Amino acid sequence: MRMIVMKFGGTSVGTTDSIDSTAKIVAAAVEGQNQSAGVEGRPDQGSESPGVLVVVSAMGGVTNTLIDAAQAAAAGDETPYRDARSQLLVRHQVVAGQLIEDGVERAGLGRLFDNRLREFERLCRSITVLGELTQRGLDVVSGVGERLSAPLLAAVLRANGVKAQFVDAGELIITDDQYGNASPLMDSTPDRCRDRLLPMMQSGVVPVVTGFVGATEKGVPTTLGRGGSDYSAAILGAALDADEIQIWTDVDGVMTADPRIVETAQSMEELSYEEVAELAYYGAKVLHPKTVTPAVERSIPLRVLNTFNPSHPGTSIVEKTRQLHHGVKAITAVRELRLITVAGRGMIGVPGIAARTFDAVARQRANVLMISQGSSEQSICFVVPEAEGDAVIEALKIEFARELAQHMIEEISNQPDIVIVAVIGAGMKGTPGIAARVFNALGEQDINVIAIAQGSSEANISLVVLQAEADEAIRAIHDTFELGNGAD
Ligand code: ASP
Ligand code: MG
Repeated sequence: MRMIVMKFGGTSVGTTDSIDSTAKIVAAAVEGQNQSAGVEGRPDQGSESPGVLVVVSAMGGVTNTLIDAAQAAAAGDETPYRDARSQLLVRHQVVAGQLIEDGVERAGLGRLFDNRLREFERLCRSITVLGELTQRGLDVVSGVGERLSAPLLAAVLRANGVKAQFVDAGELIITDDQYGNASPLMDSTPDRCRDRLLPMMQSGVVPVVTGFVGATEKGVPTTLGRGGSDYSAAILGAALDADEIQIWTDVDGVMTADPRIVETAQSMEELSYEEVAELAYYGAKVLHPKTVTPAVERSIPLRVLNTFNPSHPGTSIVEKTRQLHHGVKAITAVRELRLITVAGRGMIGVPGIAARTFDAVARQRANVLMISQGSSEQSICFVVPEAEGDAVIEALKIEFARELAQHMIEEISNQPDIVIVAVIGAGMKGTPGIAARVFNALGEQDINVIAIAQGSSEANISLVVLQAEADEAIRAIHDTFELGNGAD
C-alpha cells in the first residue's frame, strides 16, 4: 500500500471552514489512494487500505493560550485558565456543532472536550497552589490543544464518510525526558508506531494522531518543542516508511522570502533537504528545524501544501532536486540577535582562545548562530540571541580576566540589534561570483555588512546587518538574483 502522512497545522484546523476544507482534502486523498490502488490491480489491498495517516496541530493560537494560562496560574492569577477553559470548550463545540450531524457522535465529543478541559483546569489549580510551574507540568498543559483538535478532526472525517480514528501520540512516540523539547527514542518508537497503526490502516482506518506530543517510557507526557507537529509527522512517516510526508499549511509552499517583506516573493517548486534545513535553521517559518532529519534518513520526500489553495502543487522537498539551479534560491533572516567580538593583538598565534571563548559561551547554554574569525586572528566574532547576550559577555569577562588585565585581549564588545540575513541555495556550491553579487547589491543600497560567514556546506552565505537595514538588504538580494514573481 502506498502510504502518505498528511500533517495539518494550526490554521488548517483553526476555524469551522478550515476544518471543513481539511476534511475534504483528506477525503479526496483517501479516494485517490483507493483509486490508484484499484488501477494497479490490487483491489484486495487497495480498496481496504487507503494508506493515509493524519497528524494534526492544535487549533491556531490554542497552545499559546494554554501556556499563558499556566504561567499566569503559577503567578497566582486564576482568571486566564478559567477563561481559557470555557473559551476552548465553546470554540471546539461550535465546530463540532456545525460539522457533525450525528447526535451521538456530537455528545461523545462534547464529553471528551469537557473532561480534557476539566483536567486542564485541575492542573492549573494545582499549579496555583504550588506557586510553581515545572517544565514537566507545562508539557501536560501545552499538549491539551492537540488532544482536543485530533479527536475533533477524526469525528469530522467520519462525518465526511472517512473511517477515521483518533490516536494519542503518547502511545506512539516514546521520548526522553527533556520536557519542552523532547527527542524520540528511535529504538522503541518505530515498533510502537507499526504495531499500533498498521493493523488499523490495513483494515481501512485513517488514524488521526496528535502532533507535538509524546510520552516517556513511563508514560509521562512530553512535547517535542514549539511547532513540533511537523516533526511528529516526520517521525511517524519514517517509522512507517511512508512514501510521502505532506505538510499542509496556509501558504503555497516554501517562499523565496517572507512575502511580508518582499512583495514579489513566490513559492518554490523544489528544494533539497539541505536547503530546507538551512532555511529552517535561519528562521524561515517553513518547517520545524528537526523535521527533515527523520525524512532524510529514509529519503522520504516532503511536500509543503496549502489547505486554502489545495490545487497548488506547493513545494516538494527531496534529496536531490531535479533541476540544477545555479545559485541563490531563497533568503531568510534571524532577528533579535547580538554580535559579540573578542579582540586583541595578544590573540595572534595563541592557541586556545577560540576554545575558551566557546567553552565560556557553552556554559551559559547560549546558542551560537554564526562565528567568524578574521585571518589576522586579531578578533573572533559570533552571534547569539539578544536575550542571552548579557550573560555571555559576563562569562567572557570572567574567563579572560587575566588577558584583559594584561591587555592581551583589548576588548570584549557587543553590538545589539543585529540580524543575520541568510542567502540559501545548494547550487551556490562551486558557482563563482555569488558572494560578490550579494555584496554589490548591498553596496548599491549603502547597506553596511558587519560580518560574513559562509557555511562549509556552501549552501548558505550569512551576513550580519543592522536591524534597521535588514528588510532592505533582503529586498536588494532578492532583486539582484531575480527571485521574484515572473522572473523564474
Ligand atoms: N501546537 C504546537 C505549537 O503551537 C505544535 C504545532 O503547532 O506544531 O507549538
Ligand atoms: Mg505549527
